[in-house]
Amino acid sequence: TERIPTESSADDTGVAIVTSDAKILANVVKKQHLVHENYGGIHPYVAPGAVKEALEQANMRVTDVDGIAFTRGPGMTGCLGIGSSAARTLAAALSKPLVGVHHMQAHALTPLLTSPPPERPQFPFLTLLVSGGHTLLLLATSVSEFRILASTPDEAVGRVFDKVSRMLCLPWSKLGPGAALEEFCLDSTDDAAAPTPSVEVPTLPGAMPSILGFSFSGLHSAVERFVTANGGGEALDMPTKRALAREFQRAAVAQLEEKVQLGFEFCRRKGFQVRHVVVSGGVASNSYLRERLRIRMEQASPDVPIALVFPPPALCTDNAAMIAWASMPRFLAGDFDDYSIAIRPKWSIEELSS
Ligand code: ATP
Ligand code: FE
Repeated sequence: TERIPTESSADDTGVAIVTSDAKILANVVKKQHLVHENYGGIHPYVAPGAVKEALEQANMRVTDVDGIAFTRGPGMTGCLGIGSSAARTLAAALSKPLVGVHHMQAHALTPLLTSPPPERPQFPFLTLLVSGGHTLLLLATSVSEFRILASTPDEAVGRVFDKVSRMLCLPWSKLGPGAALEEFCLDSTDDAAAPTPSVEVPTLPGAMPSILGFSFSGLHSAVERFVTANGGGEALDMPTKRALAREFQRAAVAQLEEKVQLGFEFCRRKGFQVRHVVVSGGVASNSYLRERLRIRMEQASPDVPIALVFPPPALCTDNAAMIAWASMPRFLAGDFDDYSIAIRPKWSIEELSS
């Protein structure tokens, strides 16, 4: 059973072919910033080429696929529209079944694709979904039932990584500004440099221990204030910049850790036997976050080991393989969408089960 999904909730375009037994036959991602530098939103000409490339990778003809999935929402209207019309046109022309997928459900279910048994997470599991547009702590009780335990009323953690990275004028990375910040923190070239920074880097606000909700705007403005007070990103010397970047990453991750632990304890109190914590979305590729969560979960559950499950970094950020995989239960159940189905730019993951 092969599926061609198209993923287009933001400004990258992806096409993948995935089997119902979790084999990724093709996975093509066209990063917008590497394709059409000056085009606002997805370039509509990228999708057909990406479909062709995916078919070549899998060595298949388009008629060989059994169904077509696409990102229905949430996301930017223009981008969702392009992906949706491409997928609906293809499905209708080929008379293949169609399934519109929830983008965040796809991020959340990625570890079920990438971690085969015995590592595969079992329901109920806790999910930390950290991406460019979302910061969610979810309790997943089935492939389509998610309860939001925490979200952010202000900024998503991934977006703040991007903004801080740009504010500090960090070196460019093909993986994007968030990944550039992590790389910059890992670089130890100037660690022994003298003189030591003339300005002490302040301790940035991290966790709010008693509340379950996330908030990153306080941390964001603390960094901004420091940078402005010291003459702007270009003016900061390397050791100060590095110290600030590391302090930002530490504080951001400290909050994520804290909330995962609180969420885990909440689930336990409510009688959910959570044994797996799944971390997904672009920020899940951050290796400092992975390490910190490992330490934290050992502390939170010293008796019963809690398995932390991360997709490989390439499947943490947006990709079509996760869309194909999330569509699979509906394809297998014969639960298809009409070719006229509308996109849903705003769509809570809790509404999937209602
Ligand atoms: P959403 O899924 O909420 O619609 P999105 O699809 O834009 O948003 P993803 O593709 O899942 O988000 O992830 C992109 C985000 O991940 C960016 O904000 C980026 O800064 C962040 N990110 C990627 N790699 C890293 C890293 N190594 N460390 C921290 N953040 C990272
Ligand atoms: Fe995403």
